Amino acid sequence: MKQIVITAVVILCASLATWAQTPKIIAHRGAWKNTQVPQNSIASLQKAIEQGVWGTEFDVHLTKDDILVVNHDQDFYGLDIAMSTYQELLAKTHPNGEKIPTIEEYLKEGYKQKKTKMIFEIKTNKLGVERTVKATEMSYQAVKKLKGLDKTVFIAFSYPACLKLRELDKNVKIQYLNGDKTPEQLKQDHIYELDYNVKVFKKNPDYIPQAKKLGIKTNVWTVNKKEDMEYFIAQGVDFITTDQPELLKKVLSK
Ligand code: MG
Repeated sequence: MKQIVITAVVILCASLATWAQTPKIIAHRGAWKNTQVPQNSIASLQKAIEQGVWGTEFDVHLTKDDILVVNHDQDFYGLDIAMSTYQELLAKTHPNGEKIPTIEEYLKEGYKQKKTKMIFEIKTNKLGVERTVKATEMSYQAVKKLKGLDKTVFIAFSYPACLKLRELDKNVKIQYLNGDKTPEQLKQDHIYELDYNVKVFKKNPDYIPQAKKLGIKTNVWTVNKKEDMEYFIAQGVDFITTDQPELLKKVLSK
């Protein structure tokens, strides 16, 4: 009897440990690759939410006339976002007929539900750091106004953007993307999460264990191959950002 109880406890602890290490799935630019909708469209956001992923990522730019819009590239079908007004951007549409989403439209759709978090990337503005910091302040205020701070994680390549967010709010979740700071450096600046490229983690295999020791959460982008998914699951990363949320779900369920 005693033996059975001990075995049961061991199995329970082992499964709890595995569960604790399971990374959360973040759909990169929404769920678009296997769903035939444009990335960063409202449709890609809805698809990610339908899949029940932990988070859905999207990219945000500031237009010439200070409107925040959602798109990955610096241009929207050939129109340069930083140099165009919002009205000018309406000349183009996504192949599914959607116009470029404003941040209010995108966030309102995302905040209709509570399960899937909004992973909000503030894009570096090509016109300079002042525009990037302005976009950061506006992004924070847009989320706050819609009462979305606890449903949102901000990510940015721009370190000034990360520092501005921390200055605005001591609790808001921020992940730094650029890969050029150690977990220790981030902690000193009160940035408690990092989101680095696959190559950065492979070049610095001590980053994940170091981050764990420091209480820094780790996210990795963009993990699309099964072997890489398995590698980062084994490393105990906290989040995996992928264009293939369907595949990652399958790998995790094994
Ligand atoms: Mg992005």
